[in-house]
Amino acid sequence: MTEVQSANRIYYDEPATLEFTAEVTAIRELAKVDGQQVWQIALDRTAFYPTSGGQPYDTGVLVATARSGASLEVPITNVEEDEAGEVWHTTSKPLQEGTAVSGRIEAARRRDHMQQHSGQHLLSAILDRNFAARTVSFHLGDDVSTIDLEGPALTDAQLQFAAQEANRIIAAALPLGIRYATSEEAVAMKEQGLLRKLPPRSGNIRIIDIPGIDTNACGGTHVATTAEIGPLLLRGTEKVRGNLRLSFICGSRALTAINADFLTLQEAAARLTTAPSEITASIERIRTENRVLQKERANLLDEIASLEAAKLASAMHGSVIHSLPPDRDAAYAKLLASKLIRETTTAVAYIVATDRERSNVVLAAKPGMLDCGTTLRTALNTLGARGGGSAEMAQGAVPPEQAELLLNALRPLIP
Ligand SMILES: [Zn+2]
Repeated sequence: MTEVQSANRIYYDEPATLEFTAEVTAIRELAKVDGQQVWQIALDRTAFYPTSGGQPYDTGVLVATARSGASLEVPITNVEEDEAGEVWHTTSKPLQEGTAVSGRIEAARRRDHMQQHSGQHLLSAILDRNFAARTVSFHLGDDVSTIDLEGPALTDAQLQFAAQEANRIIAAALPLGIRYATSEEAVAMKEQGLLRKLPPRSGNIRIIDIPGIDTNACGGTHVATTAEIGPLLLRGTEKVRGNLRLSFICGSRALTAINADFLTLQEAAARLTTAPSEITASIERIRTENRVLQKERANLLDEIASLEAAKLASAMHGSVIHSLPPDRDAAYAKLLASKLIRETTTAVAYIVATDRERSNVVLAAKPGMLDCGTTLRTALNTLGARGGGSAEMAQGAVPPEQAELLLNALRPLIP
């Protein structure tokens, strides 16, 4: 096997370079995925970024030209770095060792990653400097990017300040610098508080500077000036393993999200027949109205239950056994049963409310007439169902097709 050369990484010093020429130095078969062969190609130099440091890989194509003059386009679907530092380009089309290729990085994807990653350095630096909230991890996701923050809890006002400060520095178009330091220099810089954290690598380390704001050991691709980050938008927080996870988006993603948010607000406003700025007030009004209506409904149901209880009690003496129409629920069954016992001469009430899934039953009795809890539980148990309650009132449920069986089991037990 050919000795694998450590690829010359163009993206380290020229993150804006998206087209390059190179030669295939090695190829290996990775695996068969869905019956298709997958290969990994190593190049003598590459501008493709391999997944690392929270930033995902680049995609793009390698183009090889055959002696005949025909060109073969090889899509790159993943890029990884191995432990020896070799960069492997994943593809379903093999290329022979020694093949001269030209590479082209998918520009929109790379640009998006650069905006999110540079935005992260800036946001992390601001939170660290102002609120001693230290970034312990970074994830650049498909929808949002997140940083996990260690340190004191952050208020909404602090987060708002951080976002404003980030956007102020973005507008200032500060140039980002790339330089290298020995590991000894890096340790000294960390001790002087010039470096936020030491990199895991040994040997020379790459440092990304935002002048006056941040010094960060990082292998990622970054924008040339902060202006290219574009708008930075916070998207929410959650607690994760004792840390605060802060979601954010930058650049084109932020613009897309703002537009989507606005469309959602417009649609909500149209449904509420109000202006977007009035949505909150409108929702508050609806909630208040809803509370009033709920109360009115409860009062009306209470009145109906009293009337229905009186009617049932006059038609049936001693015990009342009654199935409700489908528009009455388990709560109404309970209300009606308690009205029968408290407001009429009825000694024992058995009320059934059946919906699509189950028959809800309530058994209530005047004191000393019947132990409702034990009686209902015993009857339910014969059907393998559960329920129970106090001596005065008990509840349970069975599938609708068992309602008749339950009533038959109860009938001999009801006086
Ligand atoms: Zn970084």
